[in-house]
Amino acid sequence: LRGVVALDGPSGTGKSTVSRKLASALGASYLDTGAMYRAVTLAVLRAQVGPSDEAEVVRVVCGVELTMGTDPERPSVLLDGEDVGQEIRGPEVTAAVSAVSAVAAVRELLVAHQRELIGRALAEPGGIVVEGRDIGTVVVPDAGLKVYLTASAEARAQRRTAQDISEGRAGDLDRTHADVQRRDALDSGRTVAPLRKADDALELDTTDLDVAGVLEQLHKHVES
Ligand code: C5P
Repeated sequence: LRGVVALDGPSGTGKSTVSRKLASALGASYLDTGAMYRAVTLAVLRAQVGPSDEAEVVRVVCGVELTMGTDPERPSVLLDGEDVGQEIRGPEVTAAVSAVSAVAAVRELLVAHQRELIGRALAEPGGIVVEGRDIGTVVVPDAGLKVYLTASAEARAQRRTAQDISEGRAGDLDRTHADVQRRDALDSGRTVAPLRKADDALELDTTDLDVAGVLEQLHKHVES
């Protein structure tokens, strides 16, 4: 699918920053699929359902309405009309999101929604940059460009901590390091759509690259 850039990889690789900037530069839409998993996780927590209670999780997720704003300059996520962009980044959601996103029926619902949003974006000029864990393997396996970002666990924990602090949350490097490793293990080890590089994805190690360096690499491949 020309017009779709799929960006996957574990957390803290700079995926979100790079995806948004790339989308802006290309005049493309931007879809943060992690925000979708986080928003339904928030709904599960608010309903006081345990993230591992699959039947109840599915019931809650079926009953919510997610509205994704795909402008890379101001991406937004509404849960039943409420802007939850801040709350979904908090520690409660971060701790529970991997369990909710391991439920097959939750993924089916969200993948269908993602494909619908991608189809809508493709009807307009500019295309779409989609970031997540399974975009190149499951959601859009025929994306025009697939990228898999990696970085050392230390670099990823440092970036996540810096991001937390710059966005006004408490930053705790040790806790974030442990959280990054825990989520990687859960996301890579799950049976449905585990985090992995698509065979035909371009792999880019961002440990020693800044955002501009990563973007420079990506632009070369978008244009080629
Ligand atoms: O990208 P972000 O860190 O916001 O994603 C939060 C979580 O959502 C991930 O740790 C993963 O469990 C889940 N996720 C997923 N598939 C995606 C995007 C995110 O399972 N495509």
